[in-house]
Amino acid sequence: MRPTGKLHLGNYMGALANWVKLQDQYECFFFIADLHALTTDYADTSGIAPNTLEVALDFLGAGLDPEQCTIFVQSQVKQHYELPLLLGMITPLGWLERVPSYKEMIENLAHKDLTTYGFLGYPVLMASDILLYQPQFVPVGQDQQAHVELTREIARRFNQFYPRAKTQNAGDILRAAQVDPLYVLPEPKVLLTPSPKLPGTDGRKMSKSYGNTIQITDPEPVVRQKLKTMVTDPARIRRSDPGDPDKCPVGDLHKVFSTPETLAKVYEGCRSASIGCIECKGWAADALVQVLQPIQERRASFTGLQVEEILHSGNAKAAARAEQTMQEVRAAMRLTPTGAAS
Ligand code: AMP
Repeated sequence: MRPTGKLHLGNYMGALANWVKLQDQYECFFFIADLHALTTDYADTSGIAPNTLEVALDFLGAGLDPEQCTIFVQSQVKQHYELPLLLGMITPLGWLERVPSYKEMIENLAHKDLTTYGFLGYPVLMASDILLYQPQFVPVGQDQQAHVELTREIARRFNQFYPRAKTQNAGDILRAAQVDPLYVLPEPKVLLTPSPKLPGTDGRKMSKSYGNTIQITDPEPVVRQKLKTMVTDPARIRRSDPGDPDKCPVGDLHKVFSTPETLAKVYEGCRSASIGCIECKGWAADALVQVLQPIQERRASFTGLQVEEILHSGNAKAAARAEQTMQEVRAAMRLTPTGAAS
């Protein structure tokens, strides 16, 4: 998750809520991608450090448990600088230029100059972020599948050029056997997680760059106020006009957050014009507040010092794991003092 601001409900439903469930089932690494924030915000980095703390608090508030998973900051684990350089050597430019989000983001962020080496290369950084942990799975929503596919292609190319060195010592082989006997960088699979596309208050996808978000930290009055101004079914102009919750962004929120009983009332009331949009929005706000309240309470229970300690220990755990991979990568590429596999 990039620390370009506080997280919003889209981030929560699209990613965080899934992560909280996954931490019980898998050994998980979750990180705050501050190096990725640099790819677009390089000209003014003042927000990155404060936002990193806010995102860490959002993670903890949502229920990520540092006893169950590793939470760390990308820039504090130096292997995240090393592997991208090496993988950059073998990644053809064409692969990067055809990443769907590349042109899209350059167009969407026209006010920023993104014609940089770093921005073109962000999928290599992302591939490195994944492969450093030699994972079996990457939990992502559909919108991120293309990046994982590219990661698989980069891993495959690496493994073709640099098969696992044969002269590894017995300890390495033993550990390697638990990972993959042949390849240093096993190709990770997508673990497709449900990621409903949450609309923002203007009906477009909820996104920081559109200024249409409901943040995880928004207090109840703010949530209610934002809901009041939210766009609705455009065909329902007057109170007496029947509407269609399937064509209404507020209806989309109900589908994600409301109970089946409330949802039934929404469909019935909207289609028969027996409820107005104000009432319907009030019910949606009730549901959102119920989701947000426990998150905000948990979030407020952590001090800044505690968060720093959690990140500090997560950074160390991540670095230790990433270094194991780097030792295998350096050996396979013969980047050792003698040029031989160590
Ligand atoms: P971003 O900050 O836009 O890079 O998003 C971080 C994560 O949140 C990604 O996994 C996105 O898929 C997810 N996400 C962001 N916005 C939304 C949204 N409006 N609805 C659902 N998921 C979202």
